[in-house]
Amino acid sequence: MQTDDRQPVFRFAPSPNGALHLGHALSALINRDMAQAAGGRLLLRIEDIDLSRCTPALEAAMLEDLDWLGFPYEKPPRRQSEHFDEYRQALQSLIDRGLAYPAFMTRGEVKAEVAKAESRGETWPRDPDGAPLYPDFDRKRPPDERERLLAAGIKHTWRLDTNKALAAIDAPLGWIETGDGERGQMTADPAAWGDIVLSRSDAPSSYHLSVVLDDALQGVTHVVRGLDLFHATSIHRLLQELLALPQPVYHHHRLVTDGDGRKLSKSQGDTALSALRAAGQSPAGIRRLLGL
Ligand code: GLU
Repeated sequence: MQTDDRQPVFRFAPSPNGALHLGHALSALINRDMAQAAGGRLLLRIEDIDLSRCTPALEAAMLEDLDWLGFPYEKPPRRQSEHFDEYRQALQSLIDRGLAYPAFMTRGEVKAEVAKAESRGETWPRDPDGAPLYPDFDRKRPPDERERLLAAGIKHTWRLDTNKALAAIDAPLGWIETGDGERGQMTADPAAWGDIVLSRSDAPSSYHLSVVLDDALQGVTHVVRGLDLFHATSIHRLLQELLALPQPVYHHHRLVTDGDGRKLSKSQGDTALSALRAAGQSPAGIRRLLGL
């Protein structure tokens, strides 16, 4: 397909780790509507770095749902699991600059550490999603001990030394927001997330690292996604700055919630697009249900 450098580029980036539901349909359709209104390109990215949960069968079902719904993306879609080398290189560049360190604590160990501190009456800092920040033991680990653990093949992830990373960039960080919450010039606060994870123990990347690399590699100019990822944009802006990647415009849209006001999850079968289709719903009916 002929493309034009000035053409806006939109993308929908689902993870095939469950069935697509009404929340995904809203995101896909808003991307489609905005791309059409702007005369832009519409891309699909399959975010499948979690190979234990993302399966070919779920991906096939996802593509079928999107075709039925009417999501005309440029083919082929980009599949993250086919780009581990690109992520590995970016991760290595952060390691080489001394901005990333190996993190050996398991989730259970972090949880136990937090519980211990809280039982002493201490308040453990939490990120904007409410998860405890990663303890600083691994960041403070002496280099020789780090080397010894790495050489011994101890399972680990890599984490960003966020304060060091912030010191390495000179400009204040922000982004332009056009979505359904706050709008205009936003101020990024990556420190609120502590030392974010850059790679999983079973993949050379994390959601945060792949998302910024792929948005840049795919030339995405408009990131349109749910408001649940609004605060994560602070991290994405920091990584873009560290890796000298261009900065897209962000549009965080409203979320589809269940009767109790909670965000839909992939386990809520009755809002799965396949279930709605089987019950006789049409793509136009889905648009109406979503208030589009
Ligand atoms: N893969 C993410 C999700 O399914 C969305 C990533 C993004 O749009 O930045 O929640």
